[in-house]
Amino acid sequence: MADSQVLRILFVEDVPEDLELAKRKIKSSGIDFEPFLAETEDDFLKGLYEFKPEIIVSDYMLPEFDGMRALELALTYNSNIPFIILTGSMNEEIAVEAMKAGATDYILKERISRLPFAIKEALDVKEALAEKKKAIDDLESMSEIVQQSPFSVISTNLEGTITSWNKGAERIFGYTNKETLGNNVSLLYHADDTDVLQNDVIEPLLAKGYNQIQTRLLRKGGELFIGSLSLWLVKDGVGNPVGMVGYTYDITKEVEAENELRIKDQAIESGIDGIVLVDLNGNLTYANRAAYKMLGYTNKDEVIGKSVKKFVVSEEDGEWILNELKEHAFKSEFNALRKDGSEFPVRLSASRIRDSVGNIISYMGSLVDITEKKEAEEALETSEKMYRLLAENTLDCIWSMSMDLVFTYSNYAIHDILGYLPEEWVGSNLRNHCDEENFMKMMEYVHIGMQNAPSSEGILFQVEMLNKEGNSVPIEIMGKIIFDENGTPVSIQGTSRDITKRVEAEKALKESEERLELALMVSEHGFWVWDLDQDEFYFNPKSYIMLGYEDDEFPMSIDAWGKLMHPDDRKLVIPEIIESVDNGKPFSFEIRMATKSGDWIWVLAKGNTFNLKSGKHWAIGTLVDITESKKTEEQMLLARIAAEEANRCKNELLANMNHELRTPLNSIIGFSEVLIDGGLGQVNDEQEKYLRLMNNEGHRLLSLINHVLDLSKIESDGITLNFSKFDPVLVAESVMESTEMLAKKKNIRTSMSTDRNIGTITADVDKFREILYNLIENALKFTPEEGNIIVVMNMRDEEIEVSVQDTGIGIAEKDRERIFDAFVQVDGSNTRRYGGAGLGLVLVREYLKMHNGCIRVESELDKGSKFIFKIPVYPIRKEKSVYKNPVRRGICRSKPQRHSQAPKP
Ligand code: ADP
Repeated sequence: MADSQVLRILFVEDVPEDLELAKRKIKSSGIDFEPFLAETEDDFLKGLYEFKPEIIVSDYMLPEFDGMRALELALTYNSNIPFIILTGSMNEEIAVEAMKAGATDYILKERISRLPFAIKEALDVKEALAEKKKAIDDLESMSEIVQQSPFSVISTNLEGTITSWNKGAERIFGYTNKETLGNNVSLLYHADDTDVLQNDVIEPLLAKGYNQIQTRLLRKGGELFIGSLSLWLVKDGVGNPVGMVGYTYDITKEVEAENELRIKDQAIESGIDGIVLVDLNGNLTYANRAAYKMLGYTNKDEVIGKSVKKFVVSEEDGEWILNELKEHAFKSEFNALRKDGSEFPVRLSASRIRDSVGNIISYMGSLVDITEKKEAEEALETSEKMYRLLAENTLDCIWSMSMDLVFTYSNYAIHDILGYLPEEWVGSNLRNHCDEENFMKMMEYVHIGMQNAPSSEGILFQVEMLNKEGNSVPIEIMGKIIFDENGTPVSIQGTSRDITKRVEAEKALKESEERLELALMVSEHGFWVWDLDQDEFYFNPKSYIMLGYEDDEFPMSIDAWGKLMHPDDRKLVIPEIIESVDNGKPFSFEIRMATKSGDWIWVLAKGNTFNLKSGKHWAIGTLVDITESKKTEEQMLLARIAAEEANRCKNELLANMNHELRTPLNSIIGFSEVLIDGGLGQVNDEQEKYLRLMNNEGHRLLSLINHVLDLSKIESDGITLNFSKFDPVLVAESVMESTEMLAKKKNIRTSMSTDRNIGTITADVDKFREILYNLIENALKFTPEEGNIIVVMNMRDEEIEVSVQDTGIGIAEKDRERIFDAFVQVDGSNTRRYGGAGLGLVLVREYLKMHNGCIRVESELDKGSKFIFKIPVYPIRKEKSVYKNPVRRGICRSKPQRHSQAPKP
């Protein structure tokens, strides 16, 4: 009993002073106690059941109660509670009686000082008794436990002879104790395990006094099992071994489970999926090979102990995973981080591991690297997108329909082709989109498709379908029946294309072919095609009709055709035709061909070689009968030769006439002048008037004859130029002097303006003078009185430009080029008024042409004209013209005239 404990004491006493004394004695001995006083039986029972005393101190005699009754009640209640009788007078018999009845002790009141000791003693005894009782109980229960134990408990002597065999041994080994007692323990081992028994079981036990081993054991039925053995040596009082005791249980299941666990461990360790275990703080406690390899580590220790967050790309992912795990198991995909910092996508299946009572003790994750899957998904997505894009954007309509002809899909192209939106089209029936005839046609193709092998290609055909407005549209369809793995048709898929344009084009082509055929039929031209690849000839009817052949009679080959040619032409033409065909160049020949009747006709054969889009090579050409035009040409040639001959004779005549014409005219002019000058005596006014008329007309005639003769010389190439170096300004001045008379007569002011840098030129000075003279003379002729004439000379580059400008009547635009032709005068009335023969400008033009020069005119009616001519400063050969404006018929290409008005001189 511990001192600190309060001892509950039930007092049975009727004398207060005795009670007080007893309490004091107990207290003074240091026992801390709590008293309960009972004077009657009721009080006592109450005390027993409610106060639950640990010790009872009772008087022997009380007025209403007595100590023996109390003892009886106390023993009934609990025989272990010490019961001390405290009495004033007690004899030996009463004391013996009380002790026999079960009292623990008795004390006389006069020796009350002993009470505390008696209490302590009683309590000690009680304790000793309790312990003893417990030991007995324990032993009893131990032996019961040993007997009832599920484990076998077997003891043997040192020789191994079995001396005890409990129920557990009976259950495990199958033998009853009768069957084993006295037998050697080797009974429990397989014959093969005798060494094991000796070496691994007994010897270590004898050596150490203790042995623990797992070994194979044998049951009565011959079945082997794995047993776990704990063995001790049993020793006698002085420590000598006297026997052995063994404690065995069947661990076959555990071993199997363990093996299974080991296999599972190995499977986990060598699995393809990464497996990790994570503690509740989020740190890795295990990672299989696949897991740490996947994360880029070379061994397990590199990852163990590290936080999950270290292996994910974003810190948030790590937090999220751990938070989710607190709530539930889950599956998720995220980006994991390798040791080298690279990222890769993983799929995580995370779960929670609980202990036997359901507390979460760890998290487990299974990791799969889904890089390839992701890539494949992405590739699939891209290709799906691409195909979708393709399907959505193709011009062809892509569709599918169920076997009952209801459309289940269409891309947007259906809108372009038939005017329906895909959503309107899907769900509609094919029957509603075509007339009966076309529907039946399509059904025939469906029928053919059903009979085709599933692997065969689709069927291409053309039908007409109705658009949303009910109009017929020609459609080309490529359709295919789709079969399932059992060969049952499940749907029809295909593409449709609007072929309106193609049909129209085909129609147009047919029409154009027909047109061509008709044109060729009515054409006057023969037409031929030579297929160079096949060496086949085609001639249209006109080709052979012109040669007098009937249909079928005409040879359709180049050889036969060649044979009809005139032998001279054939020699020349056939090789050249073949060469042009080879070079792909056009050819044109005039050839003689024999008609069926043996006459020769002239034929113009033209052709060209073409590389057709189809890859073929054709030479195509025409044959035209030119016999008639050939004849005309020949006649014309003969006429020209005759005309040229006549012209030559004329020129010759004129040249010869030169002398004959001029001599009498010179006499007329000369003698008339002599008479006017009074060389043969004074003439009267009338005589002078007629003489002057004679003289003037003589001059006019001479000028005309000169012009005509010059022209005919030019025509017969009889004029040669005499080049000399001269000053053009001086020549111009002399011309102006010679025309001074006429100018004065009409009161016309003449002037000249020249460039400073004008130097000499090399030309035919007479022709140069003639040119200037003619122009100035014309200017004076066609300028009314009081007019102005200005001559301007410029030298530029290597040519001299001279202009003669007047304020005369001008020249209409339509006449500006014409006036340079022979005998042209602007109108008849002018001729009469101004005189002349229309040959002056022709000569001017011709002289300039011979100098490689040219002339042009700028003019405005009633305002004036400006004749501008240019000639090279040095003579140049005709073929080496340096002019920027090439000479055409001696006329300069006229400058664009913004104002046709000639500038005022
Ligand atoms: P003609 O001997 O008639 O002058 P030309 O050949 O010299 O022959 O001239 C041809 C025609 O050109 C003239 O008849 C005239 O109508 C016209 N002509 C020539 N020069 C001028 C000019 N300066 N002003 C107006 N008309 C002119």
